[in-house]
Amino acid sequence: MTVLPIREMGDPVLREVARPVSAEELAGAEIQQLIDDMIETMRDANGAGLAAPQVGVPLRIAVIEVRAGNPRYPYKPPIPLTVIVNPELTMLDEATFATNEGCLSMPNVRGDLERFENVGVRYLDRDGEAHEVTRRGLTAGTFQHEVDHLDGILFVDRMVDMSSLSTWEEFERHGKADFVARIEALVERVGS
Ligand code: ZN
Repeated sequence: MTVLPIREMGDPVLREVARPVSAEELAGAEIQQLIDDMIETMRDANGAGLAAPQVGVPLRIAVIEVRAGNPRYPYKPPIPLTVIVNPELTMLDEATFATNEGCLSMPNVRGDLERFENVGVRYLDRDGEAHEVTRRGLTAGTFQHEVDHLDGILFVDRMVDMSSLSTWEEFERHGKADFVARIEALVERVGS
C-alpha cells in the first residue's frame, strides 16, 4: 500500500463532480489498489475520511474510519472502516446540528457549519455488495462531508458565518472547549 499525495484547495479536481464506478472497474485490480492506498493515506494523515478526488481521482469512492484516540479528532465517536462506492445520501428529516469541521485538503483551516443529523446512506462496498444504513450525529456529518467531496463541494461552501474560520491552533485555544461540550451532548442524545 502507498500513501498518496493529498490534493489541496485550488486543485480543480476537488471541484469536479466525480463519476460513478462501474461493477467491472470496481472488481478490477486498479480500483482495488486505489482503495487500499486511500485507506493507507487516510490513516497516515489521521483523517476521519478521504474521498478519491482528494488523491486526484474523480471517481465516486470514499473511505471513512475513526479509530479510538484519533489525535486529529479525539471527540469523534469511533467509526469502523467503511468503503463507500457510488453512495447516495438521503436526509431522513429536517433536523440539523451545529458542527465544526476540518479537511485534509484544506490544511490548517476549520470552521462552523450545519449538517443534517440523520441520514440514510446507500452504497456499494469494495466487493460490490449493496448496503443501506442510517447514520446519525457527528458520524452523519462525516458521511455528508465525504459525499460532498464527490460533488466537488468543500465544507467551507456550507459555512454561513465565515467569522468562525480559524486555524487549528486558534480553534484549540478559543473554540474547542465549547464545541466539544456541544458535541458530547449530541453524542449523548443521538448515540453513534
Ligand atoms: Zn475533506
